[in-house]
Amino acid sequence: MQRRHFLKGSAALLSTLPVAVVAAQGPGSSAPGATAGMGADTRTLAPIVAGPDRIIEMNVCTRPFRPQGPRIETERIGRKQVVHNYGHGGSGWSLSWGSAQLAVAMAKETGRQEIAVVGCGAIGLTTAVVAQQAGLRVRIYAKERPPYVRSNFATGAWTPDSRICTAEHAAAFAERWESMARYSFRRYQSLLGVAGNPIEWRDMYSLSDLPPGSPQPNNESGEPEYPNFERELIQDITPQNVDVVSHPFPVPYVRRRPTLLFNIASYSRLLMGDFLAGGGRIETYALTDRSDFAAIEERTIINCTGYGARALLADDSIIPVRGQTCKLMPQPELDYGFYYGSRHVAVYPRRDGLLVQAQAEGDFNNDAENLDPNESISAVQRLAEIIAQMKRA
Ligand SMILES: Cc1cc2nc3c(=O)[nH]c(=O)nc-3n(C[C@H](O)[C@H](O)[C@H](O)COP(=O)(O)OP(=O)(O)OC[C@H]3O[C@@H](n4cnc5c(N)ncnc54)[C@H](O)[C@@H]3O)c2cc1C
Repeated sequence: MQRRHFLKGSAALLSTLPVAVVAAQGPGSSAPGATAGMGADTRTLAPIVAGPDRIIEMNVCTRPFRPQGPRIETERIGRKQVVHNYGHGGSGWSLSWGSAQLAVAMAKETGRQEIAVVGCGAIGLTTAVVAQQAGLRVRIYAKERPPYVRSNFATGAWTPDSRICTAEHAAAFAERWESMARYSFRRYQSLLGVAGNPIEWRDMYSLSDLPPGSPQPNNESGEPEYPNFERELIQDITPQNVDVVSHPFPVPYVRRRPTLLFNIASYSRLLMGDFLAGGGRIETYALTDRSDFAAIEERTIINCTGYGARALLADDSIIPVRGQTCKLMPQPELDYGFYYGSRHVAVYPRRDGLLVQAQAEGDFNNDAENLDPNESISAVQRLAEIIAQMKRA
């Protein structure tokens, strides 16, 4: 899944005509994970305009992956009670509410009404808001704040079991994961319809050359095996895959599934606005090692430093997983995206730009945060080729 797979081709292939899609699920559709008994629907898909000339931004950063799952536990450091809340791999946005709920409950056990949160990314901001909602007074200390935190460079989709732990640690972590995922999913529904569309549902199509359920090609990326928690533990609350039997995509097998999208620009502003409106304060402060917790005034501290915790606490359990994305010109009319695994490309219809995710070889255990422009250009070229091959209505 992670192999670099650059296709040579023209630089910018554009699709300019609308295409129609018919999704149907008949009695014969018994593929794993698909919902039985769905009706048929017909809709027109607005064309995606893709080409390197449309790129407006490229980003790269590291996911803070821990094989055992995020670290959410209390540690006494000097005179401070530090509740750690870091290491959320590729699921930080998705699990942020549930993770915050656990960490805040631990912080409340200290009995203090004034707490500090270190970190202002997805986890820190959400934790600060949840702590305020629990009646606590909160001050954030952080080296960076949005839009300069790593969280702002994420894809922005509901991916609650993406690189969240290894299969080896799944059994020990499953119950905690399920409670975090269920709580987070519910909180996200309460943010639908909010001005600026911070959160919205969008259809994602999954394109494949092989029938659903086929064995995956050998994994040559060096990544460990991951559990499929979402399918196993929370299928009852999330929308399911539908096999799409008539579609414009240039592949034999297509599935459609609604996905929660996080429009990170407006969503992080919403969180920040809520935090400040709730009386929160933010101070710029970079901790160099664990002795620096002593300089923080509050006695109870929730540590949400993400990948930064690796250096701050000398915590080698955090493994960097590099990820590069780019954005194409926003297309507000788009209400769908797609993922094509064998061509290592995905496109998400975010409001702040079409988010193109490239899968690259060697991302696992790779802490290189330097941009490789060719990686994104190549992904956009592959995307453009797929679009050019889509059937016209
Ligand atoms: C390419 C890519 C795509 C992703 N896509 C998704 C997705 O679609 N859905 C999803 O749910 N997740 C996704 N993720 C994962 C998600 O982005 C992370 O899990 C999440 O950003 C972690 O958030 P955080 O708040 O822990 O870390 P960060 O965003 O890194 O925030 C850490 C905060 O701590 C501060 N800090 C760090 N060290 C120190 C220090 N020493 N002193 C003071 N402050 C410090 C930083 O300044 C910052 O404010 C993706 C990640 C990548 C890389």
